[in-house]
Amino acid sequence: MTGTTPLDLLKIDHLLSDDERDIQATVREFVDQRVKPFVADWYERGDIDLGIVKEAGSLGLLGMHLTGYGCAGTNAVSYGLACLELEAGDSGVRSLVSVQGSLAMFAVWRWGSEEQKQTWLPDLAAGEKIGCFGLTEADFGSNPSGMRTQARREGDDWVLNGTKMWITNGSVADVAVVWAKADADHDHPAGIRGFVVPTDTPGFSAPKITKKLSLRASITSELVLEDVRLPADAVFPDVVGLKGPLSCLNEARFGIVFGALGAARDCLETALDYADTREVFDRPLSSFQLTQAKLADMALELQKGFLLALHLGRLKDDDRLDPRQVSLGKLNSVRESLAIARECRTILGANGVTLEYPVLRHANNLESVLTYEGTSEVHQLVIGQALTGVAAFS
Ligand code: FAD
Repeated sequence: MTGTTPLDLLKIDHLLSDDERDIQATVREFVDQRVKPFVADWYERGDIDLGIVKEAGSLGLLGMHLTGYGCAGTNAVSYGLACLELEAGDSGVRSLVSVQGSLAMFAVWRWGSEEQKQTWLPDLAAGEKIGCFGLTEADFGSNPSGMRTQARREGDDWVLNGTKMWITNGSVADVAVVWAKADADHDHPAGIRGFVVPTDTPGFSAPKITKKLSLRASITSELVLEDVRLPADAVFPDVVGLKGPLSCLNEARFGIVFGALGAARDCLETALDYADTREVFDRPLSSFQLTQAKLADMALELQKGFLLALHLGRLKDDDRLDPRQVSLGKLNSVRESLAIARECRTILGANGVTLEYPVLRHANNLESVLTYEGTSEVHQLVIGQALTGVAAFS
């Protein structure tokens, strides 16, 4: 959405600071060089080149809005812009960075003991280690409070049993943040607690989920915990209940508010370019009124989405962002970006269904983005509750 693109009709670029523009340009260049030329192959293979993790680390993109412990400490808008550029490459790449920074690292940064922070955050920030975040279970996605994973107290140790599902980075992670229903201990009542689990702990395994048709350039796994024995200090010391994981999800959702728009921008840039060169009925496709109506409507939604994202980013930097506002942003950005990706696919005709062009890859990815970090319906319910005062979740 920088001033260099004709899509910035509103000159939104002028609303960014020099630092924010510089960070956005740096990430865009990284994506142009290290993601876009290769991502179709990763997608076809159902894999991702993990070499980009260290490169992202050296650019300061991992946990970039966190402070200390080797993190870059940028503002929230810069983090959002980085997500936008990463997702212009592929939602899988943005997911890797989001899960590492906003879920695994944020959880340790916000809720971890000083020792947990010192042990994990510098290596995660540098991309020397990979993290994942295990909340969802096969039967408990939108309603994680029903989770069955248990943490039993045995002497001073914790013993974890259960299975997590749909966990990004799971099979390649060095450390998993796992949420489980824990026994009471001397300081805390029984309830959902977070554990920092080195993935080489006996009893831990993470089989990769295959046959995905979406987010193929991203590793998704089960986490299987069979009598995983952890020391007393593996637990986050001071948080019990869903507040812990939900605070992390809120960080990642914020990144998606910006991120999804990157996928939409890439689709629209591709469709504009294609419509310009493709001739139908002896004229460029871009010269037909129906095509222009599509392009105009998509450009409008993209710009509106970006203004909303930027507004939320400014609120976050001002420490005034409410989770319900993040729900508005996540719902809008992903829903509209998915609609844009599908519409762009129509402009590309048959070429649009191939991996030669990014549009259907983005559209397929956005189906996952629509579902994870709170489905659209869950965000509608959050907004519905804010409007009516009535919780209609159950
Ligand atoms: P369900 O909760 O079963 O929902 C099915 C449908 O029912 C949806 O349309 C939903 O909106 C609707 N629904 C649910 N409740 C209500 C209601 N009260 N009223 C009306 N409609 C309702 N999880 C992690 O913990 N860590 C990860 O790293 C992670 N990565 C993921 C990566 C991918 C590629 C995917 C696809 C998922 C990932 N997830 C991850 C899981 C994701 O968060 C869940 O899929 C999501 O929360 C939805 O849960 P579910 O799939 O069980 O759907």
